[in-house]
Amino acid sequence: MNSEEMWAQAKQLFAGGVNSPVRAAVKPFPFYVERGKGAYIYTVEGKKFIDYVLGYGPLILGHSPESVKRKIVEQLEKGWLFGTPSELEIKLAKKISSHIPSAQKIRFVNSGTEATMAAIRLARGYTKRSKILKFSGNYHGAHDYALVEAGSAATEYNVATSDGVPIEIIKTVEVCEFNDLDCVDKKLRNEDIATVILEPIMGNAGVILPEKDFLSGVRELTKSYNSLLIFDEVITGFRINIGGAQSYYQIYPDITTLGKIIGGGFPIGAVAGKAEIVDNFTPAGKVFNAGTFNANPISMIAGIATIEELEKEYPYDIANKAAKTLVEELERLLKIKHTINHVGSMFQVFFGIDKVRNYSDAKRADKEYYIKFHERLLKEGVFIPPSQYETIFTSASHKDDVVNDTIDKLVKVIGELS
Ligand code: PMP
Repeated sequence: MNSEEMWAQAKQLFAGGVNSPVRAAVKPFPFYVERGKGAYIYTVEGKKFIDYVLGYGPLILGHSPESVKRKIVEQLEKGWLFGTPSELEIKLAKKISSHIPSAQKIRFVNSGTEATMAAIRLARGYTKRSKILKFSGNYHGAHDYALVEAGSAATEYNVATSDGVPIEIIKTVEVCEFNDLDCVDKKLRNEDIATVILEPIMGNAGVILPEKDFLSGVRELTKSYNSLLIFDEVITGFRINIGGAQSYYQIYPDITTLGKIIGGGFPIGAVAGKAEIVDNFTPAGKVFNAGTFNANPISMIAGIATIEELEKEYPYDIANKAAKTLVEELERLLKIKHTINHVGSMFQVFFGIDKVRNYSDAKRADKEYYIKFHERLLKEGVFIPPSQYETIFTSASHKDDVVNDTIDKLVKVIGELS
């Protein structure tokens, strides 16, 4: 079967043909992938793409790196689910807490969604308050607590506040614009807020950076109102640097949610934080969390092997250089009005606007032009996210030859579009 034939069958089997909405944004139908290696993915038709989606963030080393693969295969020989602890969870937890200073204790779960859901419950249980404060366009996964003005595919498909979320829960969620400290101050003053949750660097409305003093301001305000601060570092953890955005900005939350990279491309999530807080999870405390697959050996070993590579620093050097070069080239080539937000190995381009500092700005960008840009690049064999409300990622496999090849394709596409 080719991709078109698979798509015809998938539409009969899955809502909208897919199992996660953004995948359907590749038009006229998604390409079906057979394998991935390094910076490339190969479709069932044998077409090769330079991949800047990278599984939406986890694959910071690129596809199927040998060092990670070898360890996974070794573990497969030993078994993959025991329903009782293994040493692997201790090893991964130690690695995480050695790099992320605010991570004294950890609970492993299976996705970023589960991590933020558990973290919000933990904060509510700890503070005995119900309300939370989030930021418009921040995405914290596909659960009721946070699907209010959510970014990512929730914005792409016009369901930023999803149907099916009980109104009683929506009412527990206060929302501010990112970078609006006055709003945070007002909400914390007037409402009994259990926790402020945010992506320290937004990656789900394109990339949006915190302005100077925003994160430190939120940190101070949460302290003074006895609210907890959750950094959702599902994207930024181990990507911005080995200590995440919190080390990069040196602002430390009470709770950190992690996912993506710490599972080396396998399903994972983690809630990390001060021991005094995390100890409220069952069975130590009274905030319930459980999971058949929590701390499963394959995700653990893939995470350990990935972090071992990241400890050698070269992945950041290569991935960051690739992103920097691409951003510089785009700035040089693009003659139409645009702005590019960039940090480390994450960036996004917004057309028709010259500054994007929050969700409202991101939504004012020329999304149609971005989609054209994505579609033309795809024709040339370069895969960037099919949605404005996602992030372009680079990896340790995006070495100079891959980047130069991409630049040649950018020259062609931008020449034709303008
Ligand atoms: N938080 C953030 C910041 C994310 O970017 C995502 C997913 N992109 C999630 C949470 C949810 O993670 P998952 O898709 O693994 O459930």
